[in-house]
Amino acid sequence: MILVSACLLGHRVRYDGRHCLREDVRGLLGDEPVLALCPEVMGGLGTPRPPARFVGASFGREGADVLSGRARLVNEDGKDVSLAFARGAKLVAELCAQHGVRLALLKDRSPSCGWDPQGVNPQGGPGQGVLAALLSQMGVTVREVRSSARGER
Ligand code: SF4
Repeated sequence: MILVSACLLGHRVRYDGRHCLREDVRGLLGDEPVLALCPEVMGGLGTPRPPARFVGASFGREGADVLSGRARLVNEDGKDVSLAFARGAKLVAELCAQHGVRLALLKDRSPSCGWDPQGVNPQGGPGQGVLAALLSQMGVTVREVRSSARGER
């Protein structure tokens, strides 16, 4: 089974209420069963919701730093949403463990799903989102899927 960021499959779960459908991702999946989930929605954050940014995190360790309490995620309204992000990531990780997920295709530049540990994405973004960090710690292979839509985080 493969985990895919729900927004990449057309679910309107992004912070701005939109999706970022990537038709080619469906082609990559073949006949493999798919879990399409959004950790931020699962963590209790609404859609739409204010975008959030890391505070006090080291590049490439952002997600792990939030999970360990060394850094925070703060939304545009100034609210600390670290617990909601961590809760959603843990729920998704539990489902991945239950379903034997070994591969995750996650949307780029997201504080939850982002995965760019070398910092090579020309559009920027964190090196490691909270969900991406947790899955990586579990031994799940994480792959970044770049989205060309503008205005994303
Ligand atoms: S990138 Fe991840 S957290 Fe953001 S909307 Fe898509 S699935 Fe949800």
